[in-house]
Amino acid sequence: MIKYKLACSDCNEVFDSWFGSSKEYEKLKKKKLLVCHICNSQKVKKTLMAPRLINSKDKQKNDTDLVKFENIKKTIKVYQKFIKDNFKYVGKNFAYEARSIHYDKKKNTKGIYGKASKNDIQELKEEGIETQLVPWLHEKDN
Ligand SMILES: [Zn+2]
Repeated sequence: MIKYKLACSDCNEVFDSWFGSSKEYEKLKKKKLLVCHICNSQKVKKTLMAPRLINSKDKQKNDTDLVKFENIKKTIKVYQKFIKDNFKYVGKNFAYEARSIHYDKKKNTKGIYGKASKNDIQELKEEGIETQLVPWLHEKDN
């Protein structure tokens, strides 16, 4: 189904009309079956508000979203590089390592990063160990 905005050149009425396809519109027009809803004039035409225009607008919007997403990805990558350079990766041992740093203050270690479940994070928080959640991109997503 295609929705066209039709305009009548006799009474200047503009109205929406549905067609099965653009071909159906042409067919009805040729057979002079397109008439104005108000004055029944046959001088009815598609206006500039064709579906194509609407679609290209939508596409533009998607492109903008994509650019935004790419920018976010870049920011995350910068974060990731900083973390990789300055923190020690402990993988799934994150909760364990975070605790050993917290409870063994003498241990001179750089910050850590790794994977933790929501439960781990909650438990750590209850123990007074603050963690920071960062969005993470995996290489295969790039
Ligand atoms: Zn009319």
